[in-house]
Amino acid sequence: LQGTSVDSQVQHTNDDSVVSKRSAGRMGYASDDYLRYFVRKVARRSPLINRGYYLRILAMTRLVEDTLRHFHAVFSNASSSATPAAASPPRLQVISLGAGFDTLAARCYDMKEFQHVHWYEVDFPEVIRNKTQLMCAAPMSSFPFHATATVRDGKEVVADRYSAVGLDLRNTSTELISLLKNSSAGGDFSVEAPTVVYAECVMQYMDTDCSDAIVKWVASTFPRAVFYAYDQLHPSDSFGHTMTTSLKSKQSPLLGVHALSGGLALCQRALREGMSFVRFSNFYKMSRFLFDDAELARHDAIESFDEMEEWCEMCEHYGILLGATDTALGASLTSSW
Ligand code: SAM
Repeated sequence: LQGTSVDSQVQHTNDDSVVSKRSAGRMGYASDDYLRYFVRKVARRSPLINRGYYLRILAMTRLVEDTLRHFHAVFSNASSSATPAAASPPRLQVISLGAGFDTLAARCYDMKEFQHVHWYEVDFPEVIRNKTQLMCAAPMSSFPFHATATVRDGKEVVADRYSAVGLDLRNTSTELISLLKNSSAGGDFSVEAPTVVYAECVMQYMDTDCSDAIVKWVASTFPRAVFYAYDQLHPSDSFGHTMTTSLKSKQSPLLGVHALSGGLALCQRALREGMSFVRFSNFYKMSRFLFDDAELARHDAIESFDEMEEWCEMCEHYGILLGATDTALGASLTSSW
């Protein structure tokens, strides 16, 4: 496989994600009012897959929301002490790289505490065009940003505090900034604003040069940024495990070198690319503080589950890297990791 054929397969990984997220939502693990506009026909996934996707949704949602709350606390205080009379919430930005049919922006957009947050979604032009068309096909007002949305050439959306734009992320460096500036209503995208950048299950499909270039782009562009990358990992690197046959056979040939690094290697590379602070947690550790006993009991009531060994194995083979361009920010956000 080469070039566009591989790109097209990578784009289709979004279909699998969204169908699995919809299955987890439909079963009652997570609630999401927007996935229905992207997946009409619900497929039922196995309990293991449903739990895995629910953990992924919950982890990414919590991390982004908690980071925004932290930004709000830190940067509101900073601005109010400088100019007490003009204390207004700081403008915050969230950029989802390889967003696919991500619904986090839609879910958070109308929340009172996030009214000052600007959301940007980027993926291959083909994927964003499909997303745009599906959002346009949904009944008016289904999405919170419908009222102010403008559709450009039928292929991207620009609304007040929300945009979805197409770009091959292998061309990050200069192109992405001008694209984001162009796509923000009023052109108010700012590299100075506290910014969360996240790539959920995206970097693993790129080769190392490209994924490193993205980390470098974040580190060198935003003085106050927190970057999260969720990825599948090489189990034998840095965790001291041997890759099991079952996992090997499940590994997609599309996975790039990024996926073949363990947490330690990812942290070292992120530091080398200019991050001031890095931390890594595998999903098993995350599941321990995201799923308490009450939550686990709720899952058991949804569908019976006796694949604990596979669950632990799967969770250990996925993880989240945090990279921060400000050491104090990174340290306070990872105190419970
Ligand atoms: N982040 C979404 C989620 O978790 O539901 C989608 C994940 S899907 C597995 C991977 C996404 O990364 C796809 O939508 C794909 O098109 C996008 N992607 C991978 N490489 C990319 C690139 N070079 N440029 C833009 N998008 C890319």
